Amino acid sequence: MTADLTALARRALLACADLARFTETPGEITRTFLCPPSRDVTAYLTAWAQALGLNVRGDAAGNLRARREGPGPDAPTLYLGSHVDTVPNAGAYDGVLGVTLAFAVAEALRDAPLPFALELLAFSEEEGVRYGVPFIGSRALVGTLDELLPLADAQGISVAEALSIYGLDPTELPEAAVTGQSLGFLEFHIEQGPVLQAAGASLGIVTAIAGQSRLLLEWTGQAAHAGTTPMPHRRDALAAAARFVVAAEDRARTTPGLVATVGMLSAQPGAINVIPGTAQATLDIRHERDEVRQAALAALLTDAHRLARERGVSLTVTEKMTQPAVPMDGGLQTRLRRAAAEEGLSVPDLPSGAGHDAMILAGRMPAAMLFLRSPNALSHHPDETVMPEDIEAALRVGVRFVQGLAAHTGGQP
Ligand SMILES: [Zn+2]
Repeated sequence: MTADLTALARRALLACADLARFTETPGEITRTFLCPPSRDVTAYLTAWAQALGLNVRGDAAGNLRARREGPGPDAPTLYLGSHVDTVPNAGAYDGVLGVTLAFAVAEALRDAPLPFALELLAFSEEEGVRYGVPFIGSRALVGTLDELLPLADAQGISVAEALSIYGLDPTELPEAAVTGQSLGFLEFHIEQGPVLQAAGASLGIVTAIAGQSRLLLEWTGQAAHAGTTPMPHRRDALAAAARFVVAAEDRARTTPGLVATVGMLSAQPGAINVIPGTAQATLDIRHERDEVRQAALAALLTDAHRLARERGVSLTVTEKMTQPAVPMDGGLQTRLRRAAAEEGLSVPDLPSGAGHDAMILAGRMPAAMLFLRSPNALSHHPDETVMPEDIEAALRVGVRFVQGLAAHTGGQP
């Protein structure tokens, strides 16, 4: 290989700094779906893609698509990319680094013949900030964006209207969908958690995007005088809720891979001298295997009902959302592992606790993710960072991954 991967890794890093300048809010990085600075991002990436001789187009969902055609019209396509929108006051790497690394991989291989087409993707929306629903960009590629078009943002502007205002044509959305044979999708992304740093590893291979359940629990007991009601006579809703919080933590701590969070807790009437008559809590529970999550949730709810009953408190449970786990493609994981081994890297497997574009693309093609270590696990924060040597490691693995696929695919008719 003649490409200078060290220099290209630096280019991918510098491009993140360049793109960080395009923001809705001076002094911070904030780039929501179809905000004016999105045009600057598109212009920057378009210039880079054109310098590589790629065919660039924007699709009707605002995604940038930069394509290197395959050897023939029927050649399959390998997709690389991530998202370029951000949360408010974001870091410079969440999503964006996955795009600049994809471009760096394409640049490293620009003179290498490939038996397939390569398409670089910069998704216009993943974070769900403007519409409260994520993955607007990637959903266009799998043909499931239509159901979101009527959603309104805080100003009452629908997704369809926002596309039109930006100069896009929602009636052209069907043309954004992937057609033809897909070899797969690879997304580079910062881990946004502490696992790789704790393992002393630059990179990790994602096994699955964790499935999750979100629930609302409500306890009803009896509000009463805090001074005159002896303990055996109480029906304290908050005490029952508190036992549940501890039970959820215990269950997650003793179930490998399970995470459970009570993020909200409230009690009424809310006075220092009144026993709480009602209480509410949320539960967010996730695991990479649905059967483990479901079994843990069932056991936890059995505990919650018992803990409530013991206090004469009733409990109602409302399921707010359930999202099944999305396993990453086994074959692509094997290729990533092989590529890493060829670079002398040991890369742990880990699930992703957060959602990513790869889980949407997985509905249409084999999908894989390579995580880069997140120093201090900081993300969705302006101090989010990434180590230059980890970027180079990811680039080297990415290049070998594509070369490995080329050697494999090239052997086929
Ligand atoms: Zn992201």
